[in-house]
Amino acid sequence: MNDVNPFETAQRQLDKAAEVLDLEESVHEALREPMRTFVVNFQVKMDDGSTKTFKGFRVQYNDALGPTKGGLRFHPDETLDTVKALAAWMTWKTAVADIPYGGGKGGVVCNPKELSQDELERISRGYICAISNFIGEDRDIPAPDVYTNPQMMAWMMDEYSKVAGAYSPAVITGKPVEVGGSLGRGDATARGVIYTIREAAKELGIKLDEATVAIQGYGNAGYYSATLIQQLLDCTVVAVSDSQGGVVNEDGLDIDAAKAHKNENGTVATYEGGDRITNNELLALDVDVLIPAAIENVITEDNAGDVSATMVAEAANGPTTPEADDTLYENGVYVIPDFLCNAGGVTVSYFEWVQNRNRYYWTEEEVYERLDKKMTKAFKDVHNRAQQEDVDNRTAAYMVSIEKVAQAMKLRGWV
Ligand code: GLU
Repeated sequence: MNDVNPFETAQRQLDKAAEVLDLEESVHEALREPMRTFVVNFQVKMDDGSTKTFKGFRVQYNDALGPTKGGLRFHPDETLDTVKALAAWMTWKTAVADIPYGGGKGGVVCNPKELSQDELERISRGYICAISNFIGEDRDIPAPDVYTNPQMMAWMMDEYSKVAGAYSPAVITGKPVEVGGSLGRGDATARGVIYTIREAAKELGIKLDEATVAIQGYGNAGYYSATLIQQLLDCTVVAVSDSQGGVVNEDGLDIDAAKAHKNENGTVATYEGGDRITNNELLALDVDVLIPAAIENVITEDNAGDVSATMVAEAANGPTTPEADDTLYENGVYVIPDFLCNAGGVTVSYFEWVQNRNRYYWTEEEVYERLDKKMTKAFKDVHNRAQQEDVDNRTAAYMVSIEKVAQAMKLRGWV
């Protein structure tokens, strides 16, 4: 992570779109800051018998369109400003996907790689207990994100249900299927990414069965994007990486062998099915599709000029800084902005919440079909808006989303 403050990035992106929209000052001012932020410190018993205090955040950015929604990150570098930025992006994400939620986000400052399963369970429970008064199925609904997973969501749902004294599956999404999760949630973010790439390829005239792909980040979003882009679009994945570096092979990589290597050795960088490259080299590869799928601030003013891909599909949240955005736009790189590109995860979270509330569960096919419709519609709204207004796709996505949130705020009498 470099030192660009993600919340300043989020505010600058909003300001840019607000200017093009000629947004009223009262609305703009309201949208520049979160409605509510919670900082909690809670105690956890560690395996060695000691007690540690952990810091957690939950930000409810804007709830004009419905209860706030968004994931939880367990990350050693987590800060309130990162969470605020991510909560702002969730607000635009749910709006662009047209699902009845506001935006929220949370996080705990911790390093899951150094914690046992039992410690992770106690942290998950401790955090939910600490924020239990502020969340709920009609208030604020957490989900997984960086370094959190379905098992943790199960512990959190259980803890909340105990505190509430009632089985409450809809308070949290991204749960395992056996305890109220939705079919298709596991790879939903990546599947949504793939649908938007398919639509963008139609617009750009890219032949997908001849297209090459490079993926930066090999966690949930990166790995599933690699698998699904081959399966559903017949593209060739030529490079993948993680925080320690990557591998490239022009003839295509064996995605599953690379994953197995990472599981065994902790990194994909030493996988022998290709030549070693750095993350910066991967970002500069001459491919049709580049997918940043890790964390924020990877395409910056220092390397944006080197990006040679025809299309950048942002599976990660906040991978591109505002300066880099300008460079990509000037160079004619087609960007599918994060909160549009990766909206598939929260969209299937919404489906999960609907199923939980109805106690009636859908088939995988129903989930995929409805997700495809939502993503395709959202993509077209943004693409068409960008063409009409002659602006970059990110600004167009902001314009679409801001209008929906602003309209709800006005109708509810806030501004
Ligand atoms: N963490 C995911 C995101 O950034 C999913 C959020 C959710 O499902 O609520 O979109």
